[in-house]
Amino acid sequence: MINLAVLGNPIAHSRSPEIHGLFAQQFGMALDYQKVLVSEHGLAEAVAELVRQGVRGCNITVPFKSQARALCDEVKGDAIGLGVINTLDFTPNGTVYGYNTDAQGLITDLKDHLEQSIQDRRVLLIGAGGAAQGVVPALLREGPETLHVWNRTPQRAEQLVQLVPSSELEAKTLEQLDEQYDLIINASAAGLQGSAPDLPRRVIGPNSFCYDLSYSDSETPFLRWASGLGAMHRADGFGMLIEQAAAAFHIWFGLLPDTQVVRTEILS
Ligand code: NAP
Repeated sequence: MINLAVLGNPIAHSRSPEIHGLFAQQFGMALDYQKVLVSEHGLAEAVAELVRQGVRGCNITVPFKSQARALCDEVKGDAIGLGVINTLDFTPNGTVYGYNTDAQGLITDLKDHLEQSIQDRRVLLIGAGGAAQGVVPALLREGPETLHVWNRTPQRAEQLVQLVPSSELEAKTLEQLDEQYDLIINASAAGLQGSAPDLPRRVIGPNSFCYDLSYSDSETPFLRWASGLGAMHRADGFGMLIEQAAAAFHIWFGLLPDTQVVRTEILS
């Protein structure tokens, strides 16, 4: 039996066990993937306990992605520089590697499944937490005309853009959000509290593609808000969740699951 886990707070909503279970089935693997609710200062202890139990690796979710950096012996791939971790790889010799697969998940979902190009488009990113930090470098690599960041606490948006200097990347205050965007990506955790971020309606037009990293069985509050303002094209982050999970599965086992099969199975 191979053991994996996802650590976060809240955690009950996570669909990661189901997704990884379906990946494991594709390769005939016996897998136990548990959800672990972690207290505010309990991440280090929770990870140490997983290592003691011989767990192969874990995913890290809200609000621990920045804290997880301190638990890694080495950070790899997209996580280098920003230090926002969503995947820990516990190797047999005791070395803990940290990765971030969120960006790969988002870009694959947007481009391959939703046919949304980022190149030359005006993009608004909402949020400056772990998820937003993790996806900024990959969004910039796609060549947007502009990438504006708005966060409820403006100083965090400022800090984020300073981490990744780029002429396309700018932090905006609410008052400075005075244009319509082609692509609006909600990377805030407002949806977990059942609300939408408090944005001016002028940022949305009928052709704005609205993407919410949050996901739920019914339309998320942000997507409901966008729909109410006439945005015709909307998607939640369930596709991203499947794609980032596939990238983590590849890190742990060197195997790439067929994500389309899992999409069809879960969404049907
Ligand atoms: P985080 O590190 O805790 O950051 C939370 C962010 O949300 C901060 O920018 C915070 O702003 C903002 N926020 C919280 N409540 C808000 C509200 N009521 N109105 C406006 N902004 C609010 O969390 P995270 O790891 O970045 O995750 C953010 C969201 O993305 C979560 O819903 C998570 O489930 C989702 N996510 C989904 C995927 C996926 O695969 N689909 C992957 C990663 C994350 P302040 O700075 O002002 O506190």
